[in-house]
Amino acid sequence: MGQMLIGVDFGATNVKIGCFDLQLQLIDHTSVTTHADQGAEAAVERIAAASEQLVHDVGGSAESIVAAGIGTPGPADYQNGIIINAANLPFRNTPIRQMLSTRLNCPVAFDNDANVACWGEFTAGAGKGVSDMIFVTLGTGVGGGIISGGRLIHGCGGNSAEIGHIIIVPDGRLCGCGQHGCVEAYASASWTAERAKEALEAGEASSLEALLNRNGGITCEDVWQHRQKGDALAERITDETARALGMLCVSLLHVLEPCRIVFAGGMIAAGQVLLDRIRHYFDEQIWTMKKEPLEIVFSSLGEDAGITGAAGLGRELLKSSSLQG
Ligand SMILES: [Zn+2]
Repeated sequence: MGQMLIGVDFGATNVKIGCFDLQLQLIDHTSVTTHADQGAEAAVERIAAASEQLVHDVGGSAESIVAAGIGTPGPADYQNGIIINAANLPFRNTPIRQMLSTRLNCPVAFDNDANVACWGEFTAGAGKGVSDMIFVTLGTGVGGGIISGGRLIHGCGGNSAEIGHIIIVPDGRLCGCGQHGCVEAYASASWTAERAKEALEAGEASSLEALLNRNGGITCEDVWQHRQKGDALAERITDETARALGMLCVSLLHVLEPCRIVFAGGMIAAGQVLLDRIRHYFDEQIWTMKKEPLEIVFSSLGEDAGITGAAGLGRELLKSSSLQG
C-alpha cells in the first residue's frame, strides 16, 4: 500500500475515520466513540490510534499517512485550527489541528463539518465537474458550504455559508438562532415535523394525528410517509418545505450563481418528490430575465461526504506544500 490520506468526521457522539488513496478513493473506514467528557487530548489519541490501526489493517504503516483532515461542529477559528466552542462538545479553545498533526506527524486540514462535507461532494460526489457549487444539509438544522471558483468560501470571520439563516419570511417564525423567518425555521427536518404538529394541534384532520397521540411527537420521516399514503396535511407540509427550499435556491443563485446546488442530510430520504418540488418552486419563482441552467441535485456520497472531504482537504495541503517546496 502506498501513500494514504486520513479523513476524520468528528461528531459529538461518534468520530468517523476513513482511509483514502491519493485519488480520494475510500480504502476502508472505521469509527470510534467521541467520549468528549474524557477531554480533547484523549479524543485526539483515540482518533490517531484508530487511524493507524485502519492503515495497518489495509497493509500500510503509520508512515503511509501523508496528510489528514478533520471536520468538527462550529464555530471555530479555522485559520488557526482551533475549536472555540463547538456545538454539543465541551472542548473550548482547543488547537485540534496542531494536536492531531503532532500525533500523526503529517499536515492536517481543519474546517467545520458542513464545509468539509461540501468539499467531499465537490471533489468526489454530486458536485464533481463544476467550479461553483452550493451544498445544503437538511437535518435538525439547515447548514451549508459554498464553493466559488473551485474554492471553499469562509467569509471574513470563517462563518459564511450559514445558509439556513437566510430570511425568507418577514417577521416569520422565530428561529433557534434568534432571527425571525429563517429558512431553517420552515424547512429543516425538525421544523417540518413541528409545523405538522402545530397544524394537528390547531385541529387539522390528518392520519398523523393517531401517531402524535401514540408517540407524543412526530418526525419529518413520518410526514413523508403519510404524504405517500395520501394524507392531505402531510402533502401540504411537504409542499411548504419544498417551497421554502425553492425560494432559498433563488436567493443563492442570485448571490453566487452556482452551477449546481447539492442537497444532503437525513431529509433527502424523502426522495425524488422533494427534489422535483424544490425544482418546481425554483422555476416558478426565479426571474424571467434569462433562463437559469441551475442543476438541483441530491448528495451522492451520503454519510461518507465528511470523511471524503476531510481527506480531500488534507490532500490540498499536500498539493500546496509541494507547490511551495
Ligand atoms: Zn435562523
